[in-house]
Amino acid sequence: MQETEEGRVPGEWSRNWTSRVLSRIFPPRCARADCVSRPLIWRRTPMIRMDDRWLCSARCVEAEARATFEHMSMPKEPAAGHRVPLGLLMLARGFLSEAQLQTVLAAQRQARGGKIGSWAQRLNFSTERQVLTALSLQWSCPVLALQTPPDFTCTAMIPWKLLQALRMMPVRFIRSTRLLYLALCEGIDHGALLAIEQMLVCHVVPCLVSDHAMDAWIERKSSWTAPGVRVFNQTSGAAEMARITASYAGRLCADQIQIVRCGAHGWVRLTAGGNKSDLLFDLGWLHHDRPAEGLEWSAVG
Ligand SMILES: [Zn+2]
Repeated sequence: MQETEEGRVPGEWSRNWTSRVLSRIFPPRCARADCVSRPLIWRRTPMIRMDDRWLCSARCVEAEARATFEHMSMPKEPAAGHRVPLGLLMLARGFLSEAQLQTVLAAQRQARGGKIGSWAQRLNFSTERQVLTALSLQWSCPVLALQTPPDFTCTAMIPWKLLQALRMMPVRFIRSTRLLYLALCEGIDHGALLAIEQMLVCHVVPCLVSDHAMDAWIERKSSWTAPGVRVFNQTSGAAEMARITASYAGRLCADQIQIVRCGAHGWVRLTAGGNKSDLLFDLGWLHHDRPAEGLEWSAVG
């Protein structure tokens, strides 16, 4: 993905340039303890930065990436649910009567799924606005209220496949303060938000929207695919993901590599000069015999 105006950190280019020149003249030591290369005074090929660690070669990049992927491929324990159930919140706010809540729960049980909020709307007991208000209380997250239409140009900052999988949509980016307003409708995945902040060097402000609004946005943008994003749905594990990452890093002459876990994906960003390319690895595939993480949400929402 080409770097966008929205994605550029002020002063980032000059800092990166200085850092690249310095790393050639005074190359730092390779961060890998198992590195077999001899330290050099002048390097013909630049050192590669992965997070805050400098690496000397494709071999060390692959080893470091493998350790990172091994860590992020470990199945995550579902977060302990300490949220007040949505049905009780709607009852307390008068959005549902006790009898209506019983009917909603029975319908959910009978259908073996579906969110309480969706059932309450489908049975005409509550409005979309009431469900959003209750969700906003449940997740301590404001409902999206924009004075002007969303600015979807900032969707290019995050691979589309990730936005689709997490049902999130960037709706505004304030460049001066690096605030990214991110609409979501499936509850807050704090790990994913942190990964986005880390990758984009920004502060994410989550805002709730209805399923209906998110479906319409995703539908409208579904024909759009970001250039420079390569998706790998089925890999054999950390070793293969690391090999692919090191191979692309070499091919693109990347001088910086960032790897984060975002939802069920490993998101790799390779930076070569000012150009950025993304790799996405489906980590869910590695645990496809385990229950999906999303199930936890449906039980309370
Ligand atoms: Zn090394």
